[in-house]
Amino acid sequence: MCVRSYLDWNATAPMREEAKAAIAAALSCVGNPSSVHAEGRAARTLIEAAREQVAALVGAQPGNVVFTASGTEANMLALTPAIETADEKRPHSRLFLSAIEHASVRAGGRFPREAIEELPVHPDGRLDLTALATAIANMPRPLVSLMLANNETGIVQPVAEAAAIVHAAGGLIHVDAVQAAGRIACDMTTLGADLLTLSAHKIGGAKGAGGLIRVREGIHFSEPLVRGGGQERGLRAGTENIAGIAAFGAAAAAARAGRDGEAAHMSRLRNQLEAGLLASTPEATVFGRDTVERLPNTTLFALAGIKAETAVIAFDLEGVAVSSGAACSSGKVQPSHVLAAMGVPRPLQRGAVRVSLGWNSTEADVEKFLAAWRKLASALSKEGQGIAA
Ligand code: PLP
Repeated sequence: MCVRSYLDWNATAPMREEAKAAIAAALSCVGNPSSVHAEGRAARTLIEAAREQVAALVGAQPGNVVFTASGTEANMLALTPAIETADEKRPHSRLFLSAIEHASVRAGGRFPREAIEELPVHPDGRLDLTALATAIANMPRPLVSLMLANNETGIVQPVAEAAAIVHAAGGLIHVDAVQAAGRIACDMTTLGADLLTLSAHKIGGAKGAGGLIRVREGIHFSEPLVRGGGQERGLRAGTENIAGIAAFGAAAAAARAGRDGEAAHMSRLRNQLEAGLLASTPEATVFGRDTVERLPNTTLFALAGIKAETAVIAFDLEGVAVSSGAACSSGKVQPSHVLAAMGVPRPLQRGAVRVSLGWNSTEADVEKFLAAWRKLASALSKEGQGIAA
């Protein structure tokens, strides 16, 4: 039997054992969490326990967690003009996004297209804070969305610095922490985040659950995302996905407890992988290596002459699952908007391959990846594409 190496954790992570156990238990729960009888109350207890676990992962109060069907949906809930605070009821007039956000943020949520403005990043992949300050100066109630770590490069964004600028301008900041959660610290207060998005399946929960977390109760959405019953504080109607939410909670608790050890494990393997990659192909570029803070698990690399689609298929045939840039855009062969925003030359934008590790990745996975890479690079160099194997 071919033992495969799954190195595409930024696309989705395998479910943690704790999450599988929580799902299995929740499947036997018959009640509707809105019902007042014992069965309903049991279902409600599962949800509220998960709310506490998810809140703890980001240092928030459980009552400020809104469960959604995905990270995408949480972003959609967050990005709306209709956010009120204790002293400000006027709608947000403009939404500012970094140019490297995930598609679910770039779509702008419930803002009209003309009210959305993109902010540049530096060639090192980090938001240009001067451009942020200039763009929102004199802007009434700006809403800014900045991811904590990029899904393609793993580059960590200067969220706390951006939050200080946004707050000084009287605005609010939303942080998409989907890729960062469980890998680096995500405390909302330390980050200065007003709103924060999580996705269960990236931290070892099930696909189809996410959450939007408010840093304080006073941040109020005056428009629900889904109208109907009063679930999730009236913001997101529909009977809750109890099993998915229970697994989300269990995964959040495990991710929180294991974070430091898992991060150290992933970064050791990631460094081994990058050292091996550069030893066999020194002319390869590993984006963000040694220049900026990155997630401990992510390597995005490119080599002139390599097409990402070809490389991903070649790796797959060797039993290694990797991805070409963002998984959500695989299938459509488009240059990476993230690398384009960083000013990376176009041929490299099309050729970038993302390798992302996780808590149960092994040295054998790294070795398998490197063997497949040497084979691919040597085949291409024999074809006269100028690559040293
Ligand atoms: N935000 C980021 C940074 C992501 O990487 C993803 C998924 O890849 C999402 C949001 C969307 O999350 P979900 O798959 O739960 O919709």
